[in-house]
Amino acid sequence: MTNFAATKALFDLPAGMIYLDGNSLGPLPHATAARVAHTVTEEWGKLLITGWNKAGWMDKPMRVGDRIARLIGAEAGHVVMGDTLSIKVYQALASCLEMTPTRRVILSDTGNFPSDLYMAEGLCRTLGDGYSLKTVAPEDVLDAIDDTIAVTMITEVDYRTGRRHDMADITARAHAHGALTIWDLAHSAGAFEVELAKAGADFAVGCTYKYLNSGPGGPAFIYVSPRHASRAVPALSGWQGHDAPFAFDLSYRPATGAERLRVGTPPILQLAALEASLDIWDTVDMAELRTASLRLTDRYIKGVEAACPSLTLATPREHALRGSQVSFRHPEGYAIMQAMIARGVIGDFRAPDIIRCGFTPLFIDETDVDRAVEIIADIMQNSLWDRAEYKTRAKVT
Ligand SMILES: *Cc1c(COP(=O)(O)O)cnc(C)c1O
Repeated sequence: MTNFAATKALFDLPAGMIYLDGNSLGPLPHATAARVAHTVTEEWGKLLITGWNKAGWMDKPMRVGDRIARLIGAEAGHVVMGDTLSIKVYQALASCLEMTPTRRVILSDTGNFPSDLYMAEGLCRTLGDGYSLKTVAPEDVLDAIDDTIAVTMITEVDYRTGRRHDMADITARAHAHGALTIWDLAHSAGAFEVELAKAGADFAVGCTYKYLNSGPGGPAFIYVSPRHASRAVPALSGWQGHDAPFAFDLSYRPATGAERLRVGTPPILQLAALEASLDIWDTVDMAELRTASLRLTDRYIKGVEAACPSLTLATPREHALRGSQVSFRHPEGYAIMQAMIARGVIGDFRAPDIIRCGFTPLFIDETDVDRAVEIIADIMQNSLWDRAEYKTRAKVT
C-alpha cells in the first residue's frame, strides 16, 4: 500500500505553507538537488562528452519515458521525453493530419489551454489548404465528432474548472468516424489513473513540471500508440529522431517506433531532476492515489461550501467528471487568492474569476485541507481580501 505520510516526508515544503499548486508547479523532492548535482559534477564534469555513452544520456528520453508509461497506462517503449508540451502538441497534430490526408478539421474545446489552441492555429496557417481548428463547448465535443474531423485534440482535465472528459467515449466515437485522437494529459499524468492503451488513444502528450515534480521547464512527453508508431511521420524531423543520428546522412529517415518523435539534444539536467521525482512515483499505486485525491477534494469542497456561501463551485461534483483540482468562482477571485497566498495557502487564479487549488496526496493531507478551509473561511467571513495590495495583478497569476 502506498504510504502517503512517507511520501510527504520526501518533499521540501516551506514550514507553515500549504501548497495547493502542485498541479501547476510540483514542489522539490529532497533528493533532487543531490541527483542534479551528481549529474553535473560526476557525469558532465568528469565524463564530459563520453557521458552520452557511459552515463546513458543518449537513451534517457526512452528510458525515462518508460517510467512515465506506467503512470498513464501506456505500452512500454511508446513514450518518449523531450521539448515542451506546446512543441509536443504541434508534433502530434502534424503527424495526425498527415495520417488523415482527406480531412481538414482539428476539433478541440473552448476549455482547452490556449497554447494547445494556438499551436493548432499556427499549424493550420502553415499548412493552408483549407485546414482549420474548430472549437466547441466542452460538453459538446462528443456530438461534434463527425466524418469531417481529422483529429480531436482534447485536454482531458480542464485547467480552469477541473472538468474531466471521458477519454474512452470520445476516443471510441472519434474512431467510429475515422478520426484520430490526441489527449493532452497536462492535468492527468500524476493526478489519477490514466488508461491510454485501454482507451485506444492514438497520441498523448503531457508535461512533467506539474504533478510529476520535475521542476520549472522540465521536459514534456509524447505517446504514440503501437498501431501508429511506425507510420507516424514526424513533422519536426530533428536528428535525434533519425534512424541513425550518427550516420549523419544527408536526408531524414525516421527511427523505428516512438523514438522518431525525439527532436534535438535531450535536457539531461532536467531529466535527472525528473528521475529523482520518479523514484517517489515508482512507489505509488495510482488507484490508491485516486482514492486519496477524491477524499481530499471532497473534504475541501464540503468545507468551503459550508463556510463560504459566496464562493461558487466551478468543478463538477461527480467523481468521474473531475480531476485532482477544485475551482471556485468569485468576481474578486484574484484578490481572494492573493489574501490566501499571504496566509500561506498557495493556489492560483485563472481569469476571469477562478480560484484554483490542486490536491496532490503525495504531500497534501487532511490536516492541510482543514487548515486551508479555516483560512479561506476567515478571509471570506471577514473580507480580508478587500485590500488594495491584493488587487494589483502580477505578470504570473
Ligand atoms: C501547462 C499546459 C501547457 C503548457 O505548455 P508548455 O509548452 O509546457 O509551456 C500546455 N497545455 C496544457 C493543457 C497545459 O495545461
